[in-house]
Amino acid sequence: MTQKKTESNIVSDKFRKDALDWSLYEKAREYALDYMKTVLDRPVFPGKEAIEGLENFREDLPDSPGDPHSILEKLHRFGSPATVAQTGGRYFGFVNGGVIPAALAAKWLVDAWDQNAVLYVTSPTVSVLEDVCEGWLTDLFGLPEGTAAGFVGGSSTATLCGLAAGRDHLLKAAGWDVSSKGLFGAPEIRVVLGAGAHSTVYKALSILGLGKDRLIKVPTDEQGRIRPDELPELDSRTLLILQAGNVNSGAFDPFSEICAKAKDAGAWTHVDGAFGLWAAASHQLKYLTAGMELADSWSVDAHKTLNAPYDSGIVLCRHREALVQALHMSGSYIVYSENRDGMLYTPDMSRRARAVELWACLMALGREGVSELVEDLQRKAAYFADGLRREGFEIPNEVCFNQVLVSCRDPELTKRTLSLIQASGECWCGGAVWKEEPVIRISVCSYRTTLEDIDRSIRAFVQARKEAGQGNK
Ligand SMILES: *Cc1c(COP(=O)(O)O)cnc(C)c1O
Repeated sequence: MTQKKTESNIVSDKFRKDALDWSLYEKAREYALDYMKTVLDRPVFPGKEAIEGLENFREDLPDSPGDPHSILEKLHRFGSPATVAQTGGRYFGFVNGGVIPAALAAKWLVDAWDQNAVLYVTSPTVSVLEDVCEGWLTDLFGLPEGTAAGFVGGSSTATLCGLAAGRDHLLKAAGWDVSSKGLFGAPEIRVVLGAGAHSTVYKALSILGLGKDRLIKVPTDEQGRIRPDELPELDSRTLLILQAGNVNSGAFDPFSEICAKAKDAGAWTHVDGAFGLWAAASHQLKYLTAGMELADSWSVDAHKTLNAPYDSGIVLCRHREALVQALHMSGSYIVYSENRDGMLYTPDMSRRARAVELWACLMALGREGVSELVEDLQRKAAYFADGLRREGFEIPNEVCFNQVLVSCRDPELTKRTLSLIQASGECWCGGAVWKEEPVIRISVCSYRTTLEDIDRSIRAFVQARKEAGQGNK
């Protein structure tokens, strides 16, 4: 029986019509421009009214299809005001970067392409741009020629991939194929890391079956750097994890004292360089990462220091086969090609084309621009720290990179000052615990930040501390 031609589906018909409704995309652009024009002046953290506006989203799933113009309007009306103004100049929370204009514009174009970065055959453009970025990053960071790169969502995943490659590589050398035999009964490998390792490293180790409680935690110095004199004997059953940029102090592990030794011992070294690896691309700051090029794998974020849009993490691996072996899969319909197939280097299969925005960032900056951007963040962090010191705040870290820790010399006062800063809308910083004391944590991470932004933020710090002190009496 032949299928009778029927009236076509209402939804598909509607979407086919909407797809050619150029005014819809014009509207999206208008809202985006409106947002970008006001983001510099609005409160950095949304006020009460904006947050309350979010309640408008808490409704039942509509029964019938909606009008795209009204959907967009609703998103802009209630969504935009309750965002965090991190693309402005006074956002210093976490280690969140701004967004480079060429990359944002490229992202809009990429969104229209809606490519799947999985294979060459799903997008030759993305495959080539990934290939190009791989080479450029290898060069910028001074890594060994032939280093492989996988483009993932962030450093959490990048670290997972690097450590997976390391685990598999060490066990393979010990005669154990972990991908087929699993970890039960495998020869033991030791995991050595600094006491200041990022929480995502622990998460990766636990996912990989390496456990969080059987690690060798090496004591760190007063800045959170791993102490080379406290390292255990390294051997070919050791997975060593180092750090370029402590998430609080910004400090770098002493790679030159450790990496060569680890390499000679046959250990696998992974460097978590989520934001700090970019120091390697700066003329003045690359001394901080000297020696890390002898490691085996590295994780880094472009959405932090480089100011690429989210979500842009990269795993880099000296041993291409080890990375591919750890992440490989197959299926009869998967056609690997002579060209770069992105999925070989990532845990995901389908992925958005994030390397395109990374490419746009690197094109927009060039080698000199990357260097300048990184140095500028460091200089501004130092300026921030100096200004706060002059106002009587204590800065308990050496400001070697873009991180500044701040204390009011009284734990309760520090905590209250921080909440008042956060509520002020003048700037936004997070908090942390540093040497068992609460601190305010500043990350200067956006090209958008000016010295005026910093002066204004320092005034907000002073005002908040004053109010916090008064509240005490
Ligand atoms: C941000 C950060 C991570 C996690 O990166 P995501 O991109 O958020 O997954 C890991 N390590 C360090 C040192 C970081 O700063």
